[in-house]
Amino acid sequence: MFKSVLIANRGEIACRIIRTARRLGMRTIAVYSSADARALHVRLADEAHYVGDAPASASYLAIAKILAAAKSARADCIHPGYGFLSENAEFARACAAAGHVFVGPSAAAIESMGLKDRAKALMEKAGVPVVPGYHGERQDPKFLKEKAYEIGYPVLVKAIAGGGGRGMRRVEKHADFDEALVAARREARAAFDDERVLLEKYVNAPRHIEMQVFADNHGHVVHLNERDCTLQRRHQKVIEEAPAPGMSAELRAKMGAAAVAAARAVNYSGAGTVEFIADGAGALRADGFWFMEMNTRLQVEHPVTEMVTGLDLVELQFRVAAGEKLPLSQEKVRLDGHAVEARLYAEDPDRGFLPSTGRLVALEFPAGEGIRVDTGVEAGADITPYYDPMIAKVITHARTREGALERLSDALDRTIVVGPRSNAGFLAQLARAREFREGKFDTGFIARNLAVLTEKRQRDASAVALAAQTFIERERTRIAALAESDADAPPSPWDEMAGFQLGGERITSLPLMADGEPLTAQVHYDARGAMVTVDAMPPARDAKIIEAGDAIYVVRKGRQTRVVRRRTEHSGGVDTGDGQIRAPMHGKILSIFVEKGTQVTRGQRLAIMEAMKMEHTLTAPVDGVVVEVAAAAHMQIAEGALVMRIESE
Ligand code: ADP
Ligand code: ADP
Ligand code: MG
Repeated sequence: MFKSVLIANRGEIACRIIRTARRLGMRTIAVYSSADARALHVRLADEAHYVGDAPASASYLAIAKILAAAKSARADCIHPGYGFLSENAEFARACAAAGHVFVGPSAAAIESMGLKDRAKALMEKAGVPVVPGYHGERQDPKFLKEKAYEIGYPVLVKAIAGGGGRGMRRVEKHADFDEALVAARREARAAFDDERVLLEKYVNAPRHIEMQVFADNHGHVVHLNERDCTLQRRHQKVIEEAPAPGMSAELRAKMGAAAVAAARAVNYSGAGTVEFIADGAGALRADGFWFMEMNTRLQVEHPVTEMVTGLDLVELQFRVAAGEKLPLSQEKVRLDGHAVEARLYAEDPDRGFLPSTGRLVALEFPAGEGIRVDTGVEAGADITPYYDPMIAKVITHARTREGALERLSDALDRTIVVGPRSNAGFLAQLARAREFREGKFDTGFIARNLAVLTEKRQRDASAVALAAQTFIERERTRIAALAESDADAPPSPWDEMAGFQLGGERITSLPLMADGEPLTAQVHYDARGAMVTVDAMPPARDAKIIEAGDAIYVVRKGRQTRVVRRRTEHSGGVDTGDGQIRAPMHGKILSIFVEKGTQVTRGQRLAIMEAMKMEHTLTAPVDGVVVEVAAAAHMQIAEGALVMRIESE
């Protein structure tokens, strides 16, 4: 076995790799950017090397800097994790050339599967069913449009270099094709510096089912069963599970054989995932699945496979890379119980899932039987805009699917994320959704049920009441302390509260701000103390209080409410609707569709900006005339900066 490993990654996956490497007796070597100097993976590793500035291109993607760190640390091998350089053939080659074993497949295998068109052509030759469509060389729009017509709508335009759900557009009808192609190309060029696309038939009621494969350098290839990653938002996985609901032994064997054939076709080595799309319109059928792509690395969702097979996939990766034989044959691969994973993100489901950056004021996870949490951050850390804003993966296991989902939703309820917004509440709702529980779902499930799943929660009055009660208790403690020390009691900043000790019955109101909205708690004092209500609701009992400076956060069922005291009724800061279009977050303006003087109607598209892997459309809040355009295409823009002004009519 290797004596040392450099982990060319960050976040939860770097921490997860360190865990196994340490157990195997390796010296663990981390790399970090200036944004990650105090990150968990840096502290967990035996040593850490600075590799550059915060942007990934200057650090985690900078091959020369990472190899320099590996050289000075004398790393036996390099584990790339997922993302970043994990599927970069040049990097795999450079590692080997510098004398460090790359923990992954050969550069040639990465290249064969790196572009979706080539991969599909190769799979066709290997007898693996592929999604019908066009994946040839020609790229002129007119030709592609004809092909789309031949394939039959709906079709999917896909960047051949794509990943992470980017560079993909579903087209419903011929008239929409040109615009979709332009959009897919624009996104592909920006993300992958390659605008070539392929076309695919859009599979009906799609289920994403993928096979984990493992190969060694001695000709053995096995599959470790499937994962179902159908629950997606914008083609990105949200909840994953193993086994796939409705999977028959026959289909598993057939899909497993196809995945093994795919791996063999490229002389694969190590951990890989063969992704299939299955027709989920009725029951899954043995002739109803097609190859989409192969990911030549460890997958984000590998823990669900670990939980049902009892294997440590990172350990297997190291063993295979060190030249050992796979320790198990296909018949020995277990499939015990059911496992589910939810990706916990710093994002705001109430605001279109915008990434939510900032300091993690509190972060707590439940522990217990059948619960695993993989994270790369702790309370006090910052979620920065530089990298993927995933906070953790919450994984649960139980004997049955129902049991695993129950455990997951319960674990998410007990997860405390304070500071940045998180999708914990959304994920918990999703894990409880009735149809999903019944196994009736496809990749459109989240989009179809978005309104219910992200239902703009009415103000959580009892959460605010709990915060109000806490403010009062705080004040009481403060006054008691002052009385005891017999100091010159300064006047309470909250004068009306000072009278509560008099014992007489009275009612006062307590002005508060809850999530930026002004509201008022009623406080009823009598001989027994203070009784607080908000909108006639008493304080919540099933919530957790986190005090941070002047604010109190109440976390309840995965959702936080931030409450501060308000001095007057007028400090609301509520949207004034003054026609100012401001950037909702840090990002880049891609296009602007209007100019000074353009007449616009409410809801009209004004500009597109890109931020954190996604495009966001800015629309007109009112009918009116554009009186100022303050931003321009290709411009970087800060959160809150003015994009344009519209004067309403
Ligand atoms: P997977 O297929 O492993 O589930 P996804 O397809 O959801 O992962 O991820 C999309 C792309 O973004 C992949 O290339 C993945 O490796 C990368 N990625 C996802 N999360 C992160 C992260 N936290 N840091 C870096 N890259 C990431
Ligand atoms: P990426 O490299 O971005 O992961 P994939 O080709 O794996 O791209 O596709 C991502 C997701 O898009 C899939 O998980 C699936 O939900 C959806 N998808 C891809 N191809 C099709 C298709 N032909 N029909 C329906 N959905 C598809
Ligand atoms: Mg994929």
